Amino acid sequence: MRFYVPEWDDAVDAHYDFEHDELSTLDRQERDLNYIWDIFEPETTPIDGVLISREQVEETDRKADRLAKYGVYDDPVLSVPNWLPTISDCGAWGYKSLPFPPYGNEEMLSFYKTLKVTVGVTIDHLVLGSGKEEGRLYLNERAFDGDMTKDDIPDAVTEVVDVMTDEWPEEWPAYVDEYEPTIRTDANSEIEPFTAADFQGEIESVLERLSQDPRAVYREDDAEFRYELTLRNAQEMYALYQRRDYPFRLMVAVQGWDSDSYARAAEEVLDIGYDYLGIGGVAGSPIHDVREIVKAVGKTVKAFERDHNTRVDSHVFGFAKTEGFETIGRSGMSSFDSASMLRSAWTGGGNYRLDHDERYDAIRVRYPSSSANIAESVEASLRSREVLVALRAYDAGGSIRDALNDWHSSSVDILPAVEHYLREHRHDNQFDERLLEVVEAAFREDFEYGRELQASFGGDLRRKLAKLLREDGPEDPVPFSQYSDLLKTADEIFDQFPHAPVLLNDSDIVTDYDRVWAIVREYATWVGDDDLLEEYQETLRERPWDRCDCPLCREESIDICIFRGNDRNRRRGFHNTRRFYDEFEEDLPKILVATKGTAKLSGFETVENYLRDEHPEFWEQTHDLPIAELGMLDASGVNEWWDDTPSMASFDPDRMAANIGEQAARYQYLFLQDDDGSIDDAVIEAAREKECAVETYSDPADLREQVLETCGENYVAGEDFLPHPPELDVDNLDILVIDQCSGSKDVPDNAPVFDADETLQFSREDLLARDNVPGIAARDLYTGRQQANVRDAVRRLRSNGHDVDRYFISAGFGLVGENDYLPPYEVTFSSMNVSEIRDRSGKLYIQEDLQKVLDESDYDVVFFTLSKDYYTSIDVDKMVQRVKADRIGVVFNRELVEDQFDNIESIPARTEDAKRHGTIVIGLKGLYMKNFAKQVDNLETIRPETIEELCRYVDDGPNQTTLPQEKS
Ligand SMILES: [Zn+2]
Repeated sequence: MRFYVPEWDDAVDAHYDFEHDELSTLDRQERDLNYIWDIFEPETTPIDGVLISREQVEETDRKADRLAKYGVYDDPVLSVPNWLPTISDCGAWGYKSLPFPPYGNEEMLSFYKTLKVTVGVTIDHLVLGSGKEEGRLYLNERAFDGDMTKDDIPDAVTEVVDVMTDEWPEEWPAYVDEYEPTIRTDANSEIEPFTAADFQGEIESVLERLSQDPRAVYREDDAEFRYELTLRNAQEMYALYQRRDYPFRLMVAVQGWDSDSYARAAEEVLDIGYDYLGIGGVAGSPIHDVREIVKAVGKTVKAFERDHNTRVDSHVFGFAKTEGFETIGRSGMSSFDSASMLRSAWTGGGNYRLDHDERYDAIRVRYPSSSANIAESVEASLRSREVLVALRAYDAGGSIRDALNDWHSSSVDILPAVEHYLREHRHDNQFDERLLEVVEAAFREDFEYGRELQASFGGDLRRKLAKLLREDGPEDPVPFSQYSDLLKTADEIFDQFPHAPVLLNDSDIVTDYDRVWAIVREYATWVGDDDLLEEYQETLRERPWDRCDCPLCREESIDICIFRGNDRNRRRGFHNTRRFYDEFEEDLPKILVATKGTAKLSGFETVENYLRDEHPEFWEQTHDLPIAELGMLDASGVNEWWDDTPSMASFDPDRMAANIGEQAARYQYLFLQDDDGSIDDAVIEAAREKECAVETYSDPADLREQVLETCGENYVAGEDFLPHPPELDVDNLDILVIDQCSGSKDVPDNAPVFDADETLQFSREDLLARDNVPGIAARDLYTGRQQANVRDAVRRLRSNGHDVDRYFISAGFGLVGENDYLPPYEVTFSSMNVSEIRDRSGKLYIQEDLQKVLDESDYDVVFFTLSKDYYTSIDVDKMVQRVKADRIGVVFNRELVEDQFDNIESIPARTEDAKRHGTIVIGLKGLYMKNFAKQVDNLETIRPETIEELCRYVDDGPNQTTLPQEKS
């Protein structure tokens, strides 16, 4: 399983000067740039590949020329290391409002070849719905340069058609001729501007006219068109690709509008012959939609692999959410990509990430606003400098007050020194340069306090001085007063400093945290970030950067947690990516499955053919494995299953050990099929040395089982790991009911009733031991409508020969069995907010106890008959994963969970459902259970959806509302 990041010029200055907030060189072209793969060692780089879209490559001519000349691996700037695979695509989001992708198939193939990427992707067109009632109308933006603007298009048009205006390319690829010959005009021909008359008249005639117009394309069903065009490109590109020997692998991109359309597209492209399939167009979609689509495509792929005894790799474009790992893994995807971890470092809140749940707000230390005058910008710079000094002292554990005073006393000399320097050097030759950047660089280097000047007084002041230096010459001197005025303004502001130390005089301020907080609070309020105060407190108190051992946090420490400029923010993005990758590896372990090649390799064209013919049992047991990567070993290391066989295979054990050792460093597990002990011990040792767990097998079936077990608990369930709804025999079901406590309780008069604090402070046993405290079995204590219904249902199920265990989630005492004795109490989750519920649930160990019950027994069906607040208390979305994949869990009103897991059924139990059953919402879940209990024995087997049918069964007879009274 591989995680790719899109290449969007995410680079930092390799030699950035954090102390002075300075770039290493002011000229970007000369700067030594570090990409994420330069920051980390090969073993710890938190990505497995890079996605490079044509759109990004062609963003500037300079970049396009460079990459065309060198390719992505040899480009001196990008220099992607050889071990990182690269995928290149067109970047369909970039041309989503054009009627056609602006590229042709042949041209894209040569683009990929020029770029020297590992994988090229077919040309897709995002399916964006069909448009409005009358479909979609595309207009060439370049025809709006006359009197008519886009806003002048009459409402009568925009109300019924979805108008997409974009700048069309000067020339369309040839295939466009077949669809829209009118728009394929000569690149040099003038585009006539639209006039109001073009949009006047009945809508039908307007559209009719525009459909013949070279500046417009009209389609009634644009979604269908885009879908078909994407498939057509797949067909054509495949044929072109087969004709020549291209040095990259071809991936097909599929599009669709729902899981069925995606699955259909997948079937079609697999039949064409593709063995690498990418799911496009899901970036930004709600997670449950993405899950549905990924699952549907995954099932199609899996079925194809088994029918054809082959393997297919698949990729999800633009999707990487920790909540999606389960789906991606179980659906057998081989890779995915996303930039969101990186970007989260400077977009939205919680920019410093430790993991999915634990995020902190980086402290914003702002640069002066670009509209600030010189006095304002000097003040903002001095203020921010003080905060940076304080933050760094806090981080280092030194005295904040001393650090501030040291900074101030060392800054006192700067302005006088500037004045002195300028008087002496203002006419030096080095300032006779046209480019301001060059003048400023010379000033920075030559003047003793060049860097300190910017660090304390800001870039604005230094740039203004550099501007004067550029103008100033011996023949035509600038009056020195122009320099002095600037320096005088700066000096007046500096007189108000040090500003921060007085904030520390308050008698409440005792600890270093108090000190740094006093300064940060005042600064944040001053710059207008006072809405972040609470978040900042947490950041400073928790010091999350101390808990990260990535090279960035180790090197730059608190600077990674400071929100300021590209060099801090992007580094934090790299850190976030590393943390994300840790979670990814934890959930979807990095597994390599391989066997050693033999001399027979040369008789085969591809590794796949070789493995299928020469190691048929191994192939049989591994070709459809999810998560794991599959390959064949020779002296060069791993040859992937889809590779061509090497032209000169060698099995030299020393070379093999060296190469495998290097590659294994990026895997957690290496599972080797070794029939006859022919894999050299040195190879295994080399991998183990890199902390990769190595196991060898002689029986491929054992290997398979071990891989699936390593993938995660759910993967070994049932016949295979495919997500499939379980089907259970109805005989002697083992049923678990997780019920909840109710407000109404059967408590003897005058008995003491314990409250929320007492039930936390004392155990159930302690309270029961007190005088006059009655103990009441949980099954009798709760007398709510739902509990009564559930009790009836349980009784009936038991009398029909099923085993039922019933537990309650009690807001007073946590998880209790139905026969446990409880003292009277008055606590309910329904009156608490989410964080109170979580807090209390934690103190009562509800989740741990429930997990134990679920893990230690083997229930066929688990009912979670709980209301919303009680679902929160057990974290139901996580808890349902404890229901084994071949067993059934039943929840209510949790459709999102049902979408995610095939063995979980969510049954709607809302007001409208209650009405259908002639009852009210309270008690409806119990009524459902009674229906289930009554009907289940009429069936031989049940599946998740049959449970829903049974529960929601409404007797059409006249007396259905009296069902609850029926005796059990
Ligand atoms: Zn870190």
